[in-house]
Amino acid sequence: MEANIINSYTWQSGILEVSYILASVLFIIGLKKLSNPESARRGNLMAAFGMGLAIVATLLFHTKDGESIKNIPLILIAIALGTVVGWAIAVKVKMTAMPQLVSLFNGMGGAAAALISLMEFPHINPLLVSESGLLNGHVLAILLGLMIGSVSFAGSMVAFLKLDGRLGDIKAPWIRYINMILLVGLLGFIAFIMLSSGTPDDMLPMVYVMFAIALVYGVLFVMPIGGADMPVVISLLNSFTGVAAAMGGFLYNNQAMLTGGILVGSAGTILTVLMCNAMNRSLINVIVGAFGGGGAAGQEVGGAIKEISLSDAAVLLSYSQKVVIVPGYGLAVAQAQHLCHDLDKLLDSKGVEVKYAIHPVAGRMPGHMNVLLAEADVPYDKLIEMDDINPEMPNTDVVIVIGANDVVNPAAETDPSSPIYGMPIIKTHEAKNVIVMKRGMGKGYAAIENNLFFADRTRMLFGDAKETLQKLVGEVKSL
Ligand code: NDP
Repeated sequence: MEANIINSYTWQSGILEVSYILASVLFIIGLKKLSNPESARRGNLMAAFGMGLAIVATLLFHTKDGESIKNIPLILIAIALGTVVGWAIAVKVKMTAMPQLVSLFNGMGGAAAALISLMEFPHINPLLVSESGLLNGHVLAILLGLMIGSVSFAGSMVAFLKLDGRLGDIKAPWIRYINMILLVGLLGFIAFIMLSSGTPDDMLPMVYVMFAIALVYGVLFVMPIGGADMPVVISLLNSFTGVAAAMGGFLYNNQAMLTGGILVGSAGTILTVLMCNAMNRSLINVIVGAFGGGGAAGQEVGGAIKEISLSDAAVLLSYSQKVVIVPGYGLAVAQAQHLCHDLDKLLDSKGVEVKYAIHPVAGRMPGHMNVLLAEADVPYDKLIEMDDINPEMPNTDVVIVIGANDVVNPAAETDPSSPIYGMPIIKTHEAKNVIVMKRGMGKGYAAIENNLFFADRTRMLFGDAKETLQKLVGEVKSL
């Protein structure tokens, strides 16, 4: 056996292994660089280069039983097609539709992992089967890859449709019981297949049934989760895809695939935990309970809406000492981040201290506001996390809420019947004055009223954020 391993070690496999290790190192450094907006672009390119290296090395140097890969033209056509489609979609996609795109691409990763399992199951090494039947690590990696990859694919497709506004939440309580039965069923299938005395061919129909159940489970898993819980689900599905890909790495003894999968899996898991903490919820509660699961519409809101004119807003801001900007999804929709930075620089030049309050789930994807403001070159040290800015609120002269709604809704603190009750918010209601920029009285993602807009200290500046900011910058300049 040892002699076999040594004999099968050719110069090609040596180059391949070195390339995989290099690719893995590039993934790790790339991921590290993603943690800072200034180095994120470079990090992304490094990781992409690592992936390119792993693909090229595989095509050139992978051998099996002394033979190289045969169907290279077919593989190249598939790569070319995938590149063209991926490129075309990524170039065209609007910043506000990024979360949908991320879900879609994540689903493709899950589908690829599931398909690998489907293709490899009938080709398990006969030597291995004759030695240990189907009770071995290879079969386990294949079946787990199939289950997790399929759930990730189906779940990501549902998340994509939800984020794109094509599918609503279905909050029937029976779904969670069906889900438990399906999950137990899937694990039962894995145990049954591995403990059976049949051949891979005998078990293939069972594997297809398992595939179908995993797809249904993926759909029903994400279906009832909605509103403010979507960010958690997106990162959870992302970690699923990573784990499914890592199973492929085990199967093929491919270090690059293994490292890539583990990195995505662990990064996704860490993000999921951080998101849960940010939302003040446990993961079980997100999956089983679902925010808004009770369907409560939230407390009655009352009071009168008060508007502020552009010139009054300009005066109020210019003569303040401390201003905090709270960006939200509407800022991304209006693409007004550059104007927002212009206003901030202008106020800065007048001696006003300006900071940005960043809520972890503002916008529609983790880190959405950081990415948006980095695009407009807002210095990173001006972006203050929610927990750090909240204590400063009572001393803030003016808070400008630009296209944010759910993340500043006081009902999260005061109304136990609200679907977002318990979610930490940016406490804008504690500031001395609040100016809210939005087009009208439209609701946010959680589809509930917001008492902040009716509060005594709040005044509304209605209109598209881009147009309003443009005019406001003009007014502030003229003072
Ligand atoms: P919200 O979705 O709560 O509110 C956005 C507000 O922006 C709307 O009320 C809308 O009001 C206003 N708006 C829309 N377009 C414009 C425009 N062109 N100009 C000015 N205003 C505009 O945003 P938040 O950022 O406060 O909260 C994010 C929500 O999304 C949370 O509930 C979060 O859980 C959820 N979510 C977050 C994800 C993430 O990963 N970050 C992923 C999925 C969901 P009007 O129509 O009146 O203009």
